[in-house]
Formats: sequence, structure tokens, C-alpha cells
Amino acid sequence: MVKETQYYDILGVKPSASPEEIKKAYRKLALKYHPDKNPDEGEKFKLISQAYEVLSDPKKRDIYDQGGEQAIKEGGSGSPSFSSPMDIFDMFFGGGGRMARERRGKNVVHQLSVTLEDLYNGITKKLALQKNIICEKCEGIGGKKGSVEKCPLCKGRGMQIHIQQIGPGMVQQIQTVCIECKGQGERINPKDRCESCNGAKVIREKKIIEVHVEKGMKDGQKILFHGEGDQEPELEPGDVIIVLDQKDHSVFQRRGHDLIMKMKIQLSEALCGFKKTIKTLDDRVLLITSKSGEVIKHGDLKCVRNEGMPIYKAPLEKGMLIIQFLVVFPEKHWLSQEKLSQLEALLPPRQKVRITEDMDQVELKEFNPNEQNWRQHREAYEEDDDGPRAGVQCQTA
Ligand SMILES: [Zn+2]
Ligand SMILES: [Zn+2]
Repeated sequence: MVKETQYYDILGVKPSASPEEIKKAYRKLALKYHPDKNPDEGEKFKLISQAYEVLSDPKKRDIYDQGGEQAIKEGGSGSPSFSSPMDIFDMFFGGGGRMARERRGKNVVHQLSVTLEDLYNGITKKLALQKNIICEKCEGIGGKKGSVEKCPLCKGRGMQIHIQQIGPGMVQQIQTVCIECKGQGERINPKDRCESCNGAKVIREKKIIEVHVEKGMKDGQKILFHGEGDQEPELEPGDVIIVLDQKDHSVFQRRGHDLIMKMKIQLSEALCGFKKTIKTLDDRVLLITSKSGEVIKHGDLKCVRNEGMPIYKAPLEKGMLIIQFLVVFPEKHWLSQEKLSQLEALLPPRQKVRITEDMDQVELKEFNPNEQNWRQHREAYEEDDDGPRAGVQCQTA
């Protein structure tokens, strides 16, 4: 049991989530709430980042699970403070950290939604991006050559100082970034300002990039476009990072190189054999046949080799297709007594029970978890997501 679930709730995962699930949840939320896409959700972005920072570190997660947020803040791991949300984001998406950021423009991260079919067959997708490019007209100066002047408002300091009266005879000095030059200390004289970029040095441009999704790529995989990020004067442009986001598939689930599917079979098929078809992700039809006389039990797993996902960079090799069989039992009272006797004669013999005088004969009823008798036991059941375990019987006198 964990002490608190707040961090898990922020990421929308269960306390039992695997490291993979935590990574995936962070990936989706961080992209959604990144200030580039959602400027008003800075606080949320920070919370997501903090929750991820704790839960992605096995040591910190352990401390949190045992002692909650308090234990984390007391610094059980020796590092009580959180990293900046941007650093966490850059580390996760491969942005290169703060040092690299100072000499390079910003990386831009985009999510690209793909289907499992796309990842199986490979596909080229066009993505329209907005990016900043250096204004051609003024070559990134923002105005005519020589039009740069010391900012008259802050006199080149980049900061403005305000004096505020906070009480009788008491003043406070507040420094803020200069609104005229935005902290640059210099500005373009308004009359010389470049008409094309309005003095901003860069203009927003739409750019189409072609993303080659290769066979065998996986959910969360990053595709890098070097130098395609925002351009800024005197900086090397950053990268565009495309993160693949696979939509759930209605039939197949992927696990590594393998595909997993569930297949319903009738009781007759489970006992007497079957032929079944499976449509593959590249639109072929597989025919599977059970061995004659082999019984398939409910939940049995079988596999077909080389029908899983193609292996990235070696797509001629494939993983396995794993099939889990679910046996569909007939409805209640499906056979007459006479036919049942015929069926029984064919089935393995039933176990004989010796009935003695001292036994209590009781009635077997349908189980209803909300029934009064069970209220006191319900808590124990509710902890288990799957409800009562097999083998539990409800017997009331
Ligand atoms: Zn200024
Ligand atoms: Zn310009």
C-alpha cells in the first residue's frame, strides 16, 4: 500500500504502474501541457514534471510510496529540491540540457499519432509545422543596418527600477525586465523597424516536413530533424523532435516484438478442434488449425512464429503472434436431460461423492456482491480489481 496517490493521480496512472507506463503518461501529458502549446497551464506542467521526477526514480518512488510528499520534501534522497520542468522535459525528449540551450535555439517537440498498421508497414507522413526563421529582409537585425540604438527607457541596462511606497517613510525597489527592449538593452528605432518582421528579427513560417515512420518503430520513439527547430539570430537552430504516439488497436496489443490477441472459440471448437482466420496488419489472412483431438482450455496461449511485429532496422525478421483463447461456454440449460446423458457418456467420468448422514445439505445460489451477508467481507474483495477470485463460493443456509 502506498501512503499517498497524488503524484500517481497527476500522471493518471495506478500506484502499481510499471516504469514504462509512467514514462508514457509523462510523455503524453508533458507534450500536452508544454508552455509552447498551452501557455496558461504552467502550474500543471510543473506538477506533471515533479510527479514524474519522483516516480521515475526507483529510490525516490520508494520514499514517496512509504512517506508521501512530506518525505520527498524532507529530502530522503539527499536532493530535496525539484529540477526545473524544462530540464526534465529536455532530458526526456533529448533536448541537450541548459548548456546546449544557451548556444542553440529551442528544440520543438511534436507528437505524431500513428496506428499499429503504420508501425507494421511503415509509412511516410507529412506534418505541417510552424517555426521561426530569420527574417530575410533585415537579415535578423530587426531593422535597417545601423538602426540599433541603446534602449532609451532603461538606458541599456535591460532592467527597469520602480520605487514603490509600501508604508509611511518606507519604499521598496523593484527591478523588472525592461518592456521596451525586453531585457536586451538595445532596440531598433521605431522609424527604422523592419516592415517584414516588425522588428522581431524572425518571422513565423509554415513548413511541411516528411516523417518516415519505419517498419518496427515503436510507441514513444523519437525521430530527429536536426537543425529544423526555431531559428534565432546568432544561435544555431534547435532540432525538431517527432515523438510517435501509437493509438490502441482493436485486435492486437504489442509487447516488444510480439503481438498479442484474444480469440473466442466455442466449447465445441475447444473440445473437437477448429479452423480460424486472422487478418494481419498488412491485410493478409492467416488460417490457423488446431491439432485434431487436442483440447484447448480457457486462457490457453498458442503462438504463430514470424507473424509478430517487424524488427526495427531488420524488418524481414518478425516477432511472434501470441493468441490467447477464450472458450465461450453455452448458455444455462442449453440441453435437455436426455441429451445431457448422451453428452456425459462421451465426456471423462465425473467424480463420485460419498454422501453420509451427517452432511448439511445447503442451497447453491447465484452470487451477488452487494448482498447483505457479504457487506463485512466486501472490502477485501474491492481491493482486487478482478472481483472475487475463482473458487469462491457463496453458500447460505
Ligand atoms: Zn530597455
Ligand atoms: Zn525583418
